[in-house]
Amino acid sequence: MDEKTRQALLDIVGEENFTENIIDLVSYTYDASSYEHRPDCALWAISTEQVSRILSMANEKGIPVTPRGAGTGLGGLAVPARGGIVLDVTRMNSILEICIPDRLAVVQPGVVYADLQSALAPYGFFFPPDPASGVVCTLGGNVATNAGGLHAVKYGTTRDYVLCLEAVLASGEVMRVGARTMKTSSGYDLCRFLVGSEGTLAVITEITLKIAPQPSHRATALAVFHKLEDAGQAVTRVMHSEVTPSVLELLDGSVISLLREHAHLDLPEVEALLLVETDGMTESYVRFQLTKIAEMFRGCNAAEVEVAATMREAELLWKARKSIGGMMGAIHLDYAPEDITVPMSQIATFLRRSEELSRVHGLDLFNFGHAGDGNLHTNILYDGKDPDQVARLEPLLYELHKLACDLGGTLSGEHGIGMTKAKYMPLEHDPTALKTMRKLKQALDPNNILNPGKMMLPG
Ligand SMILES: Cc1cc2nc3c(=O)[nH]c(=O)nc-3n(C[C@H](O)[C@H](O)[C@H](O)COP(=O)(O)OP(=O)(O)OC[C@H]3O[C@@H](n4cnc5c(N)ncnc54)[C@H](O)[C@@H]3O)c2cc1C
Repeated sequence: MDEKTRQALLDIVGEENFTENIIDLVSYTYDASSYEHRPDCALWAISTEQVSRILSMANEKGIPVTPRGAGTGLGGLAVPARGGIVLDVTRMNSILEICIPDRLAVVQPGVVYADLQSALAPYGFFFPPDPASGVVCTLGGNVATNAGGLHAVKYGTTRDYVLCLEAVLASGEVMRVGARTMKTSSGYDLCRFLVGSEGTLAVITEITLKIAPQPSHRATALAVFHKLEDAGQAVTRVMHSEVTPSVLELLDGSVISLLREHAHLDLPEVEALLLVETDGMTESYVRFQLTKIAEMFRGCNAAEVEVAATMREAELLWKARKSIGGMMGAIHLDYAPEDITVPMSQIATFLRRSEELSRVHGLDLFNFGHAGDGNLHTNILYDGKDPDQVARLEPLLYELHKLACDLGGTLSGEHGIGMTKAKYMPLEHDPTALKTMRKLKQALDPNNILNPGKMMLPG
C-alpha cells in the first residue's frame, strides 16, 4: 500500500483504529476455517461515515476490502483472500433501540449475538436464530451469513427476522432498505437480497431485527432407534404433523459410538438418537405437544422414548448433543465440519449414502444436526499431516455435496459459501442463476473490491 493511501486511511479512522502490526495482521489472516491470507492493514470503523469514506477511497484505488465481525466463519468467509484492507466493525457495537410495541430492535453490526439476548431478556423477548457461536459472533456476521441454529426448525433463520438494513455500497454510497413494519410489498426486497451476501455486495452498518416473545416453558425427550430409516421416518412424521418442535436433533450411530469412546457417555449401541424439545407459554400445552411427538416416535419403532420430568433430567438428555464439540478435542484428528442440508424426507437416504461414500473413500465420518430442518452436520475425520488422507478428503467432500444437491438439498444450511464451498456452486445453481449472481455483483461492485475471491464471483 502506497504512503498516500496509508495516510488517507489514517486520516479517516485515526491512529487508534488503524493497524499494520504484524501480530494483529496475523490474527486477521484467519477465520475459523483452515484458509489463510494476510491483509495489508486492518481498520476498525466506528461510524457509517467512516465506512463510506473508506469504501469510496478503496473503490477509486481498486483496493480489496473484507468486512469482518468476530471471524468465527467456518468457510474462509472473512479471510482477506486478495489482501488489502480488513474492515473490522466490532467497535460499532451499540444497541440503538429496543421497541417492544413494534417488536423490533435496532443494532450496530458489531453487537455480539448474546449481548442482544441479554438486553432483550428483561422484556421477556428474544432474537431466535441461536447460532452455537452466539457468545462471540456478531449480528453483522449473522446477517451476512444468514446464520441459524438449533431452533430454526420452529423459528427460522436470521433472514426471517431482518426488517431493515443500512448498508454502504462499494462506491461509498449509503443505502437504507426495508421497513420497520411486519410486512411490506414495496419494491424489490433489497433487504433480503443482502442477507447471506457474505460481505461481497455491501458493508452492513445498521440492522433492524424483528424479535419474539420468549416462551416460558420447555419440555424435552430423547428417543432411541435401532434403525436409521425409522428415525428418518419419525422426523418426517413429526414435521408433517400439527405439532412443531422447537428442537429436533439427530445423532447417527457413528457419533453415538464416538461419544461412548471419547466422551465416556453411557449411550446405547443403536443407529440413531432423536432429541426433541417443545416450547410454549403454558406447561400443559408444552407437555401436550411432547406427548404427541413421543407417540409418533413410538409409532415409528422407537425402542425407547425417555421424557424428562424435570429440568435436571432434561439437562441429562441434552448431554450427548452438547458433548459433541468437546469430544472433537479429545479425538486429536482434523475434521471438516459441513452443514449440508436436504429435504426432511431425504435425511435417512443421505445418511445411508454418506456412510457408503465414507467406506468408498476410506475416511471416517459422522453425522449429527438439525434433523427437523434437514440441516446435517457431516463431519469427516482425517489426519491433516497424512498426504494420502488429505488427497482423499476433497473427492469425498465433492461427492457429499453432489449427493445433497441430487437429493434436492443445498450446499449450506447456515455457514455460508466463502472459499470452502465456492467450487461446488455449479452443483446447486444452474448456469443462468450463476450468471445472474455475477451480474448483480458487477452492478453493485464493478471494481470487485468487496470481499473478492469468494462464492465463485469475479475477483
Ligand atoms: C464453534 C462454532 C460454532 C458455530 N455454530 C454456528 C451455528 O450454529 N450456526 C451458524 O449459522 N453458524 C455457526 N458458526 C459459524 C459462524 O459463527 C457464523 O457464520 C456467524 O454468523 C459469523 O459471525 P462473525 O461475526 O464471526 O462473522 P465473520 O466470520 O467475521 O464474517 C462472516 C462473513 O460475514 C461478512 N461480514 C461480517 N460482518 C459484516 C458486515 N457488517 N457487513 C457485511 N459483511 C459482513 C464477512 O465478510 C464474512 O464474509 C459457528 C462457528 C464456530 C466457530
